[in-house]
Amino acid sequence: MKELKLGKRDSVWFHENSGKVNVEYAKNECDVAILPIGAIEQHGPHCPCGSDTLNAIGIAERVGEKTGAMVLPSPMYGSHPYMHWGMEGTIPLKYETHIAMLEDIVRGAAVAGYNKFIIISAHGQVSSTIVAVHKLGLEGYFTLSSTWYDFLRDDKNVLDDYMWHADEAETSLALHLYPDLVDMDLAVEDGGTPLLDSKWKTAPGEATVAGSMYHFEGTFALMEKDDVEKGVIGDPTKASAEKGEKLVSAVVGHYCELIDEIKEKYPCGINPLGFRNPGSYAGTSDIKYDKDHDDKGRLL
Ligand SMILES: [Zn+2]
Repeated sequence: MKELKLGKRDSVWFHENSGKVNVEYAKNECDVAILPIGAIEQHGPHCPCGSDTLNAIGIAERVGEKTGAMVLPSPMYGSHPYMHWGMEGTIPLKYETHIAMLEDIVRGAAVAGYNKFIIISAHGQVSSTIVAVHKLGLEGYFTLSSTWYDFLRDDKNVLDDYMWHADEAETSLALHLYPDLVDMDLAVEDGGTPLLDSKWKTAPGEATVAGSMYHFEGTFALMEKDDVEKGVIGDPTKASAEKGEKLVSAVVGHYCELIDEIKEKYPCGINPLGFRNPGSYAGTSDIKYDKDHDDKGRLL
C-alpha cells in the first residue's frame, strides 16, 4: 500500500480519503467521526453567507487534527429558527429535511465503521439536531451534538456580549479563520425588538440561571426580515482576530478532552450504546446487544 500523507490517512477529511483508507482508519486507528454543520445565511454586510458553516469547519478541522477523529464533509445548509425565514441570502432547510439529512449522514458513515459521532454546529439549529440525536439513538448510533458557543459558555469571558448573529463572536471567528472574506469597513451594530424582558431567556453562550429558558425554546423575536435592518444582531465592530483565536482555541480544547475520553473508554470497534438497529428499532422490541456488552447494554 502506498504511504499515506498523514501516516494513517491522507487527510482529516473523510471525502479526501479513499473508501478503503476510511474503513481501515475506523477499524484500526479511530472510529470517532465529527460532523461540522452550519448554515447558508446572510451575515450582515460584512461577513459571507457561509459564515456558520465555515466556522464549524474551522473548529472541526482543528479537533480532527488534534484528536485523530475523522471529519465528515459538511453539508453546508442548515435549519433555522422561525424568525430567520425569508431573509435575502438565507437558504433554510425544512426541519424534517435537516433531521433526515443528519440521520442519513450518520448511518452512511457508520457503514464505513465509525461508531461515535460528534456533531459540531455553529448555528442555532437545536430544533433539528436534538430530534436527530434521539432518533439516531433509537437506532443505536452514539451521537453527541453541540453548538460551539453553548459548549464553550464563554459567558463574557473573552467577549463583551453573549452570542447572537454576525456579531462580535461570529465576526471574531471569521477574522481568525477566513479574514479574506470579511470587510470590517461594512460592520455595523444592529438588533431586533425585544418582546419580553431579557431575564426570561438564556442567551446563546450564556451560563444557565434559574427562571430562564433557552433562547431557542421560545418565539422570543419578531421576523427578522421585517424587524432587523442590517441583518446583524449584536455589535460586530467589537470583533477581533485575537478574540476569535482565543474562542477557537478554548472550544477546540473542550472538544479534544471529550473525544479523548470517548476514545479511551470505548476503543475502536465498540459502540458505546451496544446495539445497532438501523431504521428498525421503535422503542418497543427487545434489543440484541453486541457481544462486548451485557444484557443491560453495559460494556463488559
Ligand atoms: Zn451565524
